[in-house]
Amino acid sequence: MTPGVQPLIAGNWKMHGTLAEARALAGAVAAGAKAGAGAGLLVAPPFPFLPAVAAALAGSQVALGAQDCHAAPKGAHTGDVAAAMLREVGATHVILGHSERRAAHGETDAVVQAKAAAAMAAGLIPIVCVGESEAQRLAGEAEAVVRGQLAGSLPPGFAAAGGIIAYEPVWAIGTGRTPTEADIAAIHAALRAVAGPATRLLYGGSVKPGNAKEILALPNVDGALVGGASLVAADFLAIAAAVRPGG
Ligand code: PEP
Repeated sequence: MTPGVQPLIAGNWKMHGTLAEARALAGAVAAGAKAGAGAGLLVAPPFPFLPAVAAALAGSQVALGAQDCHAAPKGAHTGDVAAAMLREVGATHVILGHSERRAAHGETDAVVQAKAAAAMAAGLIPIVCVGESEAQRLAGEAEAVVRGQLAGSLPPGFAAAGGIIAYEPVWAIGTGRTPTEADIAAIHAALRAVAGPATRLLYGGSVKPGNAKEILALPNVDGALVGGASLVAADFLAIAAAVRPGG
């Protein structure tokens, strides 16, 4: 944790669930979120479920995020969604540059940077994801890769707009494997040097109730971006409860 930075536990629901399940999950997270708890909470459902989840979260401490946006404010972009549209249905944050989008949709650092700028222009807080592949980690390139991604993906004014960075080693996502605590701490120290003192730095990649306490206690880890475990309210809330009160 970083003194003075409020931790955030963000759930990335990816392309999972039905509308009824999204409502129930959001309701359970909202009901379990404790006012004044150490960590802020955020859930990022699939686009079609955003309004229903916003309604389920109304009056709670839980923020709403989306999983992507387009870089343009409007236009002929079939199948895409503008940042202002997300804002209009209640999102306050948007995840950008997730490794699944970088891999499956060919998103480059420049694309992510343009999307983050668009998000900020629409009043959304971007959560920009970076992280090395397993081959890059084994080649000793993890820190250089992440530094390069940051340099290319963060638009001017990112920190001042409250932008959030998520370090997600690609090989740790959905695999049950995590870097060593020393490796996470080393990357987060490098992120901190680039991001400045007030930017929230999340760790993501197989965070579970069983490992959250150790990971969240590391220096410069200001929360977590959680995939699989965010689909079970009790697990997601247990991860949030692992945040040490007072940071
Ligand atoms: C993610 O995809 O952002 C993620 C961290 O997934 P998981 O927690 O399932 O590894």
